Amino acid sequence: MTSNLLWVSFLLAALTLSITFSLQPDQPKVLLVSFDGFRWDYLYRVPTPHFHHVKEYGVHVKQVTNIFITKTYPNHYTLITGLFAENHGIVANDMFDPVLNKSFSLDNMNIYDSEFWEEATPIWITNQRAGHTSGAAMWPGTDVKIHKSFPTYYMPYNESVSFEERVAKIIEWFTSKEPINLGLLYWEEPDDMGHLLGPDSPLMGPVISDIDQRLGYLIRMLKKAKLWNVLNLIITSDHGMTQCSEERIIELDQYLDKDHYTLIDKSPVAAILPKEGRFDEVYEALAHAHPNLTVYKKEEIPDRWHYKHNSRIQPILAVADEGWYILRNKSDDFLLGNHGYDNALAEMHPMFLAHGPAFRKNFTKEAMNSTDLYPLLCHLLNITAVPHNGSLRNVQDLLSSPTPRASPYTQSPPLLHGSVKPRENEQEEPYAYFIGVSLGSIIVIVFLIIFIKHLIRSQIPALPDFQAEISQPLLQA
Ligand SMILES: [Zn+2]
Repeated sequence: MTSNLLWVSFLLAALTLSITFSLQPDQPKVLLVSFDGFRWDYLYRVPTPHFHHVKEYGVHVKQVTNIFITKTYPNHYTLITGLFAENHGIVANDMFDPVLNKSFSLDNMNIYDSEFWEEATPIWITNQRAGHTSGAAMWPGTDVKIHKSFPTYYMPYNESVSFEERVAKIIEWFTSKEPINLGLLYWEEPDDMGHLLGPDSPLMGPVISDIDQRLGYLIRMLKKAKLWNVLNLIITSDHGMTQCSEERIIELDQYLDKDHYTLIDKSPVAAILPKEGRFDEVYEALAHAHPNLTVYKKEEIPDRWHYKHNSRIQPILAVADEGWYILRNKSDDFLLGNHGYDNALAEMHPMFLAHGPAFRKNFTKEAMNSTDLYPLLCHLLNITAVPHNGSLRNVQDLLSSPTPRASPYTQSPPLLHGSVKPRENEQEEPYAYFIGVSLGSIIVIVFLIIFIKHLIRSQIPALPDFQAEISQPLLQA
């Protein structure tokens, strides 16, 4: 009976300790990949076996509702901050800040002024503050010094660096002696070709096939480095693309005197800064100019866009209908594909795919918000999120194990520019670990007590026997 109890105690102790060690927070790895301008339905345009492989063995969200304006820099910053444009401050690819009296422009890569980026704290900074290391291969903004720091490893932006070289760097950082736990990988296509050809062009087929081949290359390299099964890979994009036409052009010069305003950002969302004393004149001239152009005074911009409370948003915003193009006149550049339109439009949406130990297998979900990626990344990395506009609750069904404790704490209150309040610590304390350690210790102590008692008892009956043995000869004698 005692011996059975001993074995049961021993097995329980061993089991609890092994569970405890398996719960011990490991260093989870996340690689976030963005294929710029990959519209959600490109997956079905041509065979994309590698994307479908990830989908089959991981999770797939058909459409991601991105943020307004549906441009590259605002959306890439949302993916790594969880904030709407009015809160993270990168409100467009081309901006003017009247407070700083400075301009920001993607066209001539005038994007390196830290002050434009410091209204938010991107995830790589939070990750590094938590004692981890991050690596970024050309992800927009990761070669800008933000809050006095860079990612632990990064590549200065250079579009001529090949996809293979970027992948090689990512693999090198994940397999170094002090490996990164967070990798960010960016590729310019299919955005460039989407602009040039227009998404409806049959020539987009080979462009999408090429992206699928590149994903296949990334998967092969991850497998070769033995990372495929241990790393959480997320593949998404910043926006989609819609077909434009030279028959759908709105020329501002037809309605406005060019001396009366400055055009800060062009198409399809024109950010207009009227010259001193010209606001009413410019607004009235534009308000009823064209049936496919909706003109807003800054304070009238719809709330659902979360695009109002920032000094970099100009006094007048003119938004073109889908597929319409805003130019000053026909001497301006025109492209057959464009994005930036209303984020409610399906054609502006990217997709989301993920594979790895944290994700379910062969699971499809209809939609998510791009702001929800940030709390998901923080959860995967086991780091504390800073205030954001997303919710882990919205995407926790993608995870292989539920996150009941985390869910009540992962919804940030609505954040408005100027009223961002630090909220409750969102880090999930590894309670299971502490409970495991405590339970393990108690069972080990109980096991030791029973073991010692058993040892003492097994010694005690031996004494009379021994005495009997030595007393025998005496008796006999
Ligand atoms: Zn883009």
